[in-house]
Amino acid sequence: MNNRRPNFNDGMYLQVIGVGSARPVPERHPSSQVLRVRDRVFLIDCGEGTQMQLLKYKVPISRLHRIFLTHLHGDHCLGVPGLLSTMSLVGFQHPVHIYGPEGTKDFVDRIVKYFCRTNDEGNIVAHEINPDGEAIMVYEDHVVEVHAFELKHKVSCVGYRFNEKPLQRHLRRDQADYYGVPVAYFGRIKQGDDYIMPDGTIVPNEDLTSPNRPPYSFAYCSDTIYFPEIVPFIQGVDLLYHETTFGEELSDKAHARGHSTALEAAKIARLAGVKALLMGHYSTRYKTIKEVEMLRLEAESQFPNVIAGEEGLIIDVSEIIKAK
Ligand SMILES: [Zn+2]
Ligand SMILES: [Zn+2]
Repeated sequence: MNNRRPNFNDGMYLQVIGVGSARPVPERHPSSQVLRVRDRVFLIDCGEGTQMQLLKYKVPISRLHRIFLTHLHGDHCLGVPGLLSTMSLVGFQHPVHIYGPEGTKDFVDRIVKYFCRTNDEGNIVAHEINPDGEAIMVYEDHVVEVHAFELKHKVSCVGYRFNEKPLQRHLRRDQADYYGVPVAYFGRIKQGDDYIMPDGTIVPNEDLTSPNRPPYSFAYCSDTIYFPEIVPFIQGVDLLYHETTFGEELSDKAHARGHSTALEAAKIARLAGVKALLMGHYSTRYKTIKEVEMLRLEAESQFPNVIAGEEGLIIDVSEIIKAK
Protein backbone atom coordinates (compact mmCIF):
# COMPACT_ATOMS: atom_id res chain seq x y z
CA MET A 1 0.00 0.00 0.00
CA ASN A 2 1.59 3.25 -1.10
CA ASN A 3 1.22 6.24 -3.38
CA ARG A 4 3.17 4.74 -6.29
CA ARG A 5 1.16 4.33 -9.49
CA PRO A 6 0.66 0.62 -10.17
CA ASN A 7 -0.16 -1.17 -13.38
CA PHE A 8 -3.96 -1.16 -13.37
CA ASN A 9 -4.49 -3.84 -16.02
CA ASP A 10 -5.60 -6.55 -13.62
CA GLY A 11 -7.11 -6.72 -10.15
CA MET A 12 -8.91 -4.15 -8.04
CA TYR A 13 -7.47 -0.83 -6.87
CA LEU A 14 -9.13 1.75 -4.67
CA GLN A 15 -7.78 5.28 -4.75
CA VAL A 16 -8.75 7.79 -2.09
CA ILE A 17 -9.55 11.19 -3.63
CA GLY A 18 -11.03 13.07 -0.66
CA VAL A 19 -11.19 12.29 3.08
CA GLY A 20 -12.86 15.44 4.43
CA SER A 21 -16.37 15.82 5.80
CA ALA A 22 -19.05 18.51 5.44
CA ARG A 23 -17.13 21.58 6.62
CA PRO A 24 -14.40 22.60 4.19
CA VAL A 25 -10.79 22.84 5.33
CA PRO A 26 -7.86 23.88 3.15
CA GLU A 27 -5.86 20.70 3.62
CA ARG A 28 -8.59 18.24 2.65
CA HIS A 29 -11.12 17.53 -0.07
CA PRO A 30 -14.60 16.17 0.54
CA SER A 31 -15.64 12.59 -0.20
CA SER A 32 -14.62 10.87 -3.40
CA GLN A 33 -12.92 7.61 -4.31
CA VAL A 34 -11.95 5.92 -7.57
CA LEU A 35 -12.36 2.17 -7.90
CA ARG A 36 -10.63 0.31 -10.70
CA VAL A 37 -11.72 -3.23 -11.48
CA ARG A 38 -9.51 -4.63 -14.27
CA ASP A 39 -10.03 -2.08 -17.09
CA ARG A 40 -13.07 -0.39 -15.53
CA VAL A 41 -12.88 2.97 -13.74
CA PHE A 42 -15.70 3.96 -11.37
CA LEU A 43 -16.10 7.17 -9.39
CA ILE A 44 -17.83 6.90 -6.02
CA ASP A 45 -19.06 10.20 -4.60
CA CYS A 46 -17.90 13.44 -6.10
CA GLY A 47 -17.46 16.20 -3.54
CA GLU A 48 -16.45 19.73 -4.51
CA GLY A 49 -13.07 19.87 -6.23
CA THR A 50 -13.06 16.20 -7.22
CA GLN A 51 -12.13 16.91 -10.84
CA MET A 52 -9.05 18.86 -9.75
CA GLN A 53 -8.04 15.91 -7.59
CA LEU A 54 -8.63 13.52 -10.52
CA LEU A 55 -6.29 15.68 -12.62
CA LYS A 56 -3.72 15.73 -9.83
CA TYR A 57 -3.78 11.95 -9.52
CA LYS A 58 -3.93 11.39 -13.30
CA VAL A 59 -7.27 9.57 -13.25
CA PRO A 60 -8.47 9.63 -16.88
CA ILE A 61 -11.92 11.27 -16.88
CA SER A 62 -12.37 10.09 -20.47
CA ARG A 63 -12.72 6.58 -19.02
CA LEU A 64 -15.26 7.53 -16.37
CA HIS A 65 -18.55 6.17 -17.61
CA ARG A 66 -20.25 5.54 -14.26
CA ILE A 67 -20.50 7.72 -11.17
CA PHE A 68 -22.07 6.36 -8.00
CA LEU A 69 -23.39 8.96 -5.54
CA THR A 70 -24.37 7.96 -2.02
CA HIS A 71 -26.51 11.00 -1.21
CA LEU A 72 -27.18 14.59 -2.10
CA HIS A 73 -25.27 16.32 0.67
CA GLY A 74 -22.88 18.85 -0.85
CA ASP A 75 -19.72 17.17 0.40
CA HIS A 76 -20.63 14.10 -1.70
CA CYS A 77 -22.01 15.62 -4.91
CA LEU A 78 -21.02 19.24 -5.48
CA GLY A 79 -18.17 18.13 -7.74
CA VAL A 80 -20.65 16.72 -10.26
CA PRO A 81 -21.49 20.08 -11.95
CA GLY A 82 -17.82 20.82 -12.59
CA LEU A 83 -17.02 17.34 -13.79
CA LEU A 84 -19.99 17.10 -16.17
CA SER A 85 -19.31 20.61 -17.43
CA THR A 86 -15.73 19.60 -18.31
CA MET A 87 -16.84 16.35 -19.91
CA SER A 88 -19.29 18.32 -22.03
CA LEU A 89 -16.65 20.94 -22.88
CA VAL A 90 -14.18 18.35 -24.17
CA GLY A 91 -16.95 16.64 -26.14
CA PHE A 92 -16.95 13.19 -24.58
CA GLN A 93 -18.25 10.52 -26.94
CA HIS A 94 -19.68 8.01 -24.50
CA PRO A 95 -22.74 8.07 -22.24
CA VAL A 96 -22.14 8.88 -18.57
CA HIS A 97 -24.39 7.14 -16.06
CA ILE A 98 -24.93 8.67 -12.63
CA TYR A 99 -26.47 6.58 -9.88
CA GLY A 100 -27.88 7.91 -6.63
CA PRO A 101 -30.92 8.05 -4.35
CA GLU A 102 -34.17 9.92 -4.89
CA GLY A 103 -33.50 13.43 -6.21
CA THR A 104 -30.51 12.42 -8.33
CA LYS A 105 -32.41 12.78 -11.60
CA ASP A 106 -33.53 16.31 -10.82
CA PHE A 107 -30.01 17.22 -9.66
CA VAL A 108 -28.43 15.86 -12.85
CA ASP A 109 -31.11 17.35 -15.15
CA ARG A 110 -30.41 20.83 -13.79
CA ILE A 111 -26.66 20.43 -14.26
CA VAL A 112 -27.20 19.29 -17.84
CA LYS A 113 -29.56 22.19 -18.47
CA TYR A 114 -27.19 24.88 -17.24
CA PHE A 115 -23.68 23.50 -17.77
CA CYS A 116 -23.75 21.02 -20.63
CA ARG A 117 -24.37 21.38 -24.34
CA THR A 118 -27.88 20.71 -25.54
CA ASN A 119 -26.71 17.71 -27.55
CA ASP A 120 -25.49 16.09 -24.34
CA GLU A 121 -29.10 15.41 -23.41
CA GLY A 122 -29.58 11.69 -23.43
CA ASN A 123 -25.83 11.16 -23.15
CA ILE A 124 -25.91 11.83 -19.42
CA VAL A 125 -28.23 9.36 -17.77
CA ALA A 126 -29.36 9.52 -14.14
CA HIS A 127 -30.51 6.38 -12.34
CA GLU A 128 -32.44 6.77 -9.09
CA ILE A 129 -32.05 3.93 -6.62
CA ASN A 130 -34.52 2.86 -3.96
CA PRO A 131 -33.23 -0.33 -2.29
CA ASP A 132 -36.14 -0.41 0.21
CA GLY A 133 -34.43 -2.63 2.79
CA GLU A 134 -32.86 -5.00 0.24
CA ALA A 135 -29.60 -5.07 -1.68
CA ILE A 136 -30.44 -4.47 -5.33
CA MET A 137 -28.21 -4.87 -8.35
CA VAL A 138 -27.89 -1.49 -10.06
CA TYR A 139 -25.23 -2.28 -12.65
CA GLU A 140 -23.64 -5.34 -14.23
CA ASP A 141 -21.19 -6.04 -17.02
CA HIS A 142 -18.88 -8.99 -17.70
CA VAL A 143 -16.32 -7.71 -15.16
CA VAL A 144 -18.33 -6.48 -12.20
CA GLU A 145 -21.69 -6.38 -10.43
CA VAL A 146 -22.70 -3.36 -8.35
CA HIS A 147 -25.30 -3.67 -5.60
CA ALA A 148 -26.87 -0.83 -3.62
CA PHE A 149 -28.38 -0.89 -0.14
CA GLU A 150 -29.74 1.67 2.30
CA LEU A 151 -27.59 3.48 4.81
CA LYS A 152 -29.06 5.43 7.70
CA HIS A 153 -28.34 9.14 7.50
CA LYS A 154 -30.12 12.48 7.65
CA VAL A 155 -31.32 12.14 4.05
CA SER A 156 -31.86 9.20 1.65
CA CYS A 157 -28.47 7.55 1.38
CA VAL A 158 -27.21 4.38 -0.29
CA GLY A 159 -24.08 2.28 0.08
CA TYR A 160 -22.56 0.22 -2.71
CA ARG A 161 -20.94 -3.16 -3.00
CA PHE A 162 -18.75 -3.96 -6.02
CA ASN A 163 -18.25 -7.65 -6.72
CA GLU A 164 -15.73 -8.58 -9.36
CA LYS A 165 -16.98 -11.50 -11.43
CA PRO A 166 -15.00 -14.77 -11.27
CA LEU A 167 -12.11 -14.95 -13.67
CA GLN A 168 -11.75 -17.69 -16.26
CA ARG A 169 -9.70 -20.70 -15.17
CA HIS A 170 -6.17 -21.09 -16.57
CA LEU A 171 -5.90 -23.67 -19.34
CA ARG A 172 -3.20 -26.29 -18.73
CA ARG A 173 -1.87 -26.50 -22.26
CA ASP A 174 0.13 -29.67 -21.62
CA GLN A 175 -2.99 -31.46 -20.42
CA ALA A 176 -5.12 -30.08 -23.26
CA ASP A 177 -2.55 -31.40 -25.78
CA TYR A 178 -2.35 -34.74 -23.97
CA TYR A 179 -6.12 -35.26 -24.29
CA GLY A 180 -6.17 -33.85 -27.82
CA VAL A 181 -8.54 -30.97 -27.03
CA PRO A 182 -9.07 -28.89 -30.21
CA VAL A 183 -8.16 -25.20 -29.94
CA ALA A 184 -11.78 -24.28 -30.73
CA TYR A 185 -12.82 -25.73 -27.34
CA PHE A 186 -10.30 -23.77 -25.27
CA GLY A 187 -12.70 -20.89 -24.54
CA ARG A 188 -15.38 -23.20 -23.15
CA ILE A 189 -12.84 -25.20 -21.15
CA LYS A 190 -11.58 -21.96 -19.54
CA GLN A 191 -15.19 -21.18 -18.59
CA GLY A 192 -15.44 -24.50 -16.72
CA ASP A 193 -16.79 -27.04 -19.25
CA ASP A 194 -15.57 -30.64 -19.22
CA TYR A 195 -14.19 -32.06 -22.47
CA ILE A 196 -15.92 -35.02 -24.09
CA MET A 197 -13.50 -37.05 -26.20
CA PRO A 198 -14.66 -38.51 -29.56
CA ASP A 199 -15.09 -41.93 -27.88
CA GLY A 200 -17.41 -40.39 -25.23
CA THR A 201 -14.87 -40.33 -22.40
CA ILE A 202 -15.37 -37.29 -20.18
CA VAL A 203 -12.25 -35.38 -19.17
CA PRO A 204 -13.15 -33.36 -16.05
CA ASN A 205 -12.44 -29.67 -16.20
CA GLU A 206 -10.11 -29.86 -13.17
CA ASP A 207 -7.76 -32.10 -15.23
CA LEU A 208 -7.51 -29.45 -17.94
CA THR A 209 -7.36 -26.23 -15.96
CA SER A 210 -6.03 -24.64 -12.81
CA PRO A 211 -7.92 -22.06 -10.77
CA ASN A 212 -7.42 -18.36 -11.28
CA ARG A 213 -7.14 -15.90 -8.38
CA PRO A 214 -10.39 -15.32 -6.45
CA PRO A 215 -12.56 -12.37 -7.50
CA TYR A 216 -12.24 -9.25 -5.34
CA SER A 217 -14.90 -7.17 -3.63
CA PHE A 218 -15.25 -3.69 -2.14
CA ALA A 219 -18.04 -1.92 -0.24
CA TYR A 220 -18.54 1.80 0.35
CA CYS A 221 -20.58 3.02 3.34
CA SER A 222 -20.75 6.77 3.84
CA ASP A 223 -22.50 8.66 5.33
CA THR A 224 -24.21 6.58 7.97
CA ILE A 225 -24.96 6.23 11.61
CA TYR A 226 -23.89 2.92 13.20
CA PHE A 227 -26.31 0.64 11.36
CA PRO A 228 -25.72 -3.11 11.74
CA GLU A 229 -28.59 -3.83 9.31
CA ILE A 230 -26.04 -3.31 6.50
CA VAL A 231 -23.88 -6.23 7.68
CA PRO A 232 -25.50 -8.91 5.44
CA PHE A 233 -24.99 -6.69 2.40
CA ILE A 234 -21.27 -6.17 2.95
CA GLN A 235 -20.51 -9.61 4.40
CA GLY A 236 -16.99 -10.85 3.66
CA VAL A 237 -15.82 -8.07 1.35
CA ASP A 238 -12.07 -7.77 0.89
CA LEU A 239 -12.08 -4.04 1.54
CA LEU A 240 -14.71 -1.99 3.36
CA TYR A 241 -14.77 1.77 3.36
CA HIS A 242 -16.89 2.97 6.27
CA GLU A 243 -17.02 6.56 7.41
CA THR A 244 -15.24 7.38 10.68
CA THR A 245 -16.25 10.98 11.24
CA PHE A 246 -15.67 11.13 14.99
CA GLY A 247 -13.74 9.56 17.84
CA GLU A 248 -15.50 7.78 20.67
CA GLU A 249 -15.42 10.90 22.88
CA LEU A 250 -17.92 12.49 20.47
CA SER A 251 -20.23 9.52 19.98
CA ASP A 252 -23.25 11.61 21.03
CA LYS A 253 -22.44 14.16 18.33
CA ALA A 254 -21.93 11.36 15.79
CA HIS A 255 -25.39 9.95 16.47
CA ALA A 256 -27.08 13.36 16.49
CA ARG A 257 -25.57 14.19 13.08
CA GLY A 258 -26.14 10.81 11.44
CA HIS A 259 -22.49 9.72 11.51
CA SER A 260 -20.34 6.96 12.99
CA THR A 261 -17.33 6.81 15.24
CA ALA A 262 -14.17 4.97 14.24
CA LEU A 263 -14.93 2.33 16.84
CA GLU A 264 -18.43 1.77 15.43
CA ALA A 265 -17.05 1.43 11.89
CA ALA A 266 -14.67 -1.21 13.21
CA LYS A 267 -17.55 -3.07 14.88
CA ILE A 268 -19.33 -3.18 11.52
CA ALA A 269 -16.12 -4.46 9.87
CA ARG A 270 -15.82 -7.20 12.50
CA LEU A 271 -19.48 -8.22 12.29
CA ALA A 272 -19.26 -8.40 8.50
CA GLY A 273 -16.02 -10.42 8.55
CA VAL A 274 -14.31 -8.12 6.04
CA LYS A 275 -10.57 -8.35 5.42
CA ALA A 276 -9.66 -4.67 5.79
CA LEU A 277 -11.34 -1.45 6.87
CA LEU A 278 -10.57 1.91 5.27
CA MET A 279 -11.34 5.05 7.29
CA GLY A 280 -12.28 8.53 6.07
CA HIS A 281 -14.78 11.42 6.21
CA TYR A 282 -12.87 12.87 9.14
CA SER A 283 -14.34 15.71 11.17
CA THR A 284 -12.29 18.92 11.01
CA ARG A 285 -11.36 18.24 14.64
CA TYR A 286 -8.92 15.56 13.49
CA LYS A 287 -6.45 17.55 11.42
CA THR A 288 -3.06 16.04 12.04
CA ILE A 289 -1.66 12.59 11.26
CA LYS A 290 -1.46 12.03 15.00
CA GLU A 291 -5.16 12.80 15.49
CA VAL A 292 -6.18 10.49 12.65
CA GLU A 293 -3.91 7.82 14.11
CA MET A 294 -5.84 8.16 17.37
CA LEU A 295 -9.04 7.33 15.47
CA ARG A 296 -7.28 4.39 13.82
CA LEU A 297 -6.16 3.02 17.18
CA GLU A 298 -9.71 3.26 18.52
CA ALA A 299 -10.89 1.25 15.53
CA GLU A 300 -8.06 -1.22 15.93
CA SER A 301 -9.31 -2.09 19.41
CA GLN A 302 -12.26 -3.78 17.66
CA PHE A 303 -10.81 -4.91 14.35
CA PRO A 304 -7.22 -5.78 13.43
CA ASN A 305 -6.72 -4.42 9.91
CA VAL A 306 -7.55 -0.71 9.77
CA ILE A 307 -6.17 1.60 7.08
CA ALA A 308 -6.27 5.36 7.69
CA GLY A 309 -7.50 6.91 4.45
CA GLU A 310 -5.36 9.75 3.12
CA GLU A 311 -5.73 11.59 -0.16
CA GLY A 312 -3.87 9.95 -3.02
CA LEU A 313 -3.53 6.61 -1.26
CA ILE A 314 -3.91 3.64 -3.63
CA ILE A 315 -4.92 0.33 -2.11
CA ASP A 316 -4.13 -2.79 -4.13
CA VAL A 317 -6.71 -5.34 -2.97
CA SER A 318 -4.38 -8.24 -3.86
CA GLU A 319 -2.00 -7.00 -1.15
CA ILE A 320 -4.78 -7.25 1.45
CA ILE A 321 -5.40 -10.84 0.41
CA LYS A 322 -1.65 -11.67 0.48
CA ALA A 323 -1.28 -10.18 3.97
CA LYS A 324 -4.07 -12.35 5.40
ZN1 LIG B 1 -20.63 13.70 4.29
ZN1 LIG C 1 -24.09 13.42 4.57
